[in-house]
Amino acid sequence: MAKKNINEPQCSFCGRDSSMVSFMVPSPFNPSTMICNECIESIHEIIDEQKKKMSDRNKAKTPVGEKIPKPKEIQKFLDQYVIGQDTAKKYLSVAVYNHYKRLSQPTDDDVDIEKSNIVLVGPTGTGKTLLAKTIARLLDVPFTIVDATVLTQAGYVGEDIESLLTRLLQAADYDVEAAERGIVFIDEIDKIARKGDNPSITRDVSGEGVQQGLLKLLEGSIVNVPPQGGRKHPEAKMIPVDTKNILFICGGAFDGIERKIAQRLNSHVVGFSNEIERKNKDKVNFLQHVAPQDLKSFGLIPEIIGRLPILTSLEPLDRNALRNVLTEPKNAIIRQYKKLFKMDGVDLDFTDDALDLIVDKAIEYKLGARGLRSIVETIMIDPMFELPSKKTTKFVVDAKFALDKLKQANFETTATASK
Ligand code: ADP
Repeated sequence: MAKKNINEPQCSFCGRDSSMVSFMVPSPFNPSTMICNECIESIHEIIDEQKKKMSDRNKAKTPVGEKIPKPKEIQKFLDQYVIGQDTAKKYLSVAVYNHYKRLSQPTDDDVDIEKSNIVLVGPTGTGKTLLAKTIARLLDVPFTIVDATVLTQAGYVGEDIESLLTRLLQAADYDVEAAERGIVFIDEIDKIARKGDNPSITRDVSGEGVQQGLLKLLEGSIVNVPPQGGRKHPEAKMIPVDTKNILFICGGAFDGIERKIAQRLNSHVVGFSNEIERKNKDKVNFLQHVAPQDLKSFGLIPEIIGRLPILTSLEPLDRNALRNVLTEPKNAIIRQYKKLFKMDGVDLDFTDDALDLIVDKAIEYKLGARGLRSIVETIMIDPMFELPSKKTTKFVVDAKFALDKLKQANFETTATASK
């Protein structure tokens, strides 16, 4: 390497002297300040990169014309992965479509389209998270799923509310502008309901306190977000994020809310004239009548409810729906197992009565859709262990085989115990 000569002009950027580079360009304001051709070239590259990033960002910012999936197209897409839940699909499709439109709205008039955050109410295992995840597949905006149960009021053990936005920032690769157009799915929102009717007699750090914190995010404000989340990096510089255009979708089982809905509906209906009507009433899916006041009786504060104007419900999955969950969705459990076996050169099949048995057991043990996978897994563990070492090319699971495996694995006793 050439030696530095202190009498020679040096590049003020990299410190190399003129003999080490092709040429130097002096500053027009101060001729002793120089920049070498190599530094100019690298700066050029940096500028090109930045320009490209900015233009990509602008392209993503304006989803024009046909690029916005129409509500019916969104619903069609959801249909490929989620069985039933037509009402929730319709509400979500419209909300997501409007979200896109809001992002591309012209800013030069007085009408400002406000966002409409959503609450999905439905028993556990009916597809709330699946709907949210499926929407995320379709979208080209940053998306994250967070669990409300880990959130606590600032200063208490648990995660601060702002950590919701940390996750979104991470999903957006720390592109703040992109995160500001993203969607956050908050699961188990019912778990931050106020405990008891009397507000704030004792501090309710995981209930009302969290709701108050969440309110700030939902209503749209500039929030300072810790880039790494948590409180482990108090020295980290906060990133300001504007939540005005972030769409929040909340999901919760709201266990017991049916009673509150029934009570409310009952107060409008003057008695039931006969036993048959009373029995029919028992079968009604009360959730489909859920209204904002029921969320309030459940323990959400009115301000939060006001910020979640779209309220829709998911139905419990009946036998037919559960049977379809096994085989119909693009990502259906049975399809997944078939694929696994195919990779070992084995054609896997399930007889109809085997599939019926799996559904029966999921219903019998009150496991719902979530239980289907564990039941199939229990049935398939032995074949998955043995077949790769054999020359088998076809394997059929029938009801007898399935039942034997469930008995062998003591599934019946364990599942019954957890009932
Ligand atoms: P939750 O309503 O509690 O959020 P999930 O969406 O997590 O329920 O559902 C759990 C699992 O059950 C999903 O991963 C999926 O395999 C299955 N499942 C539940 N509901 C449906 C549905 N409507 N269509 C297809 N699969 C479903």
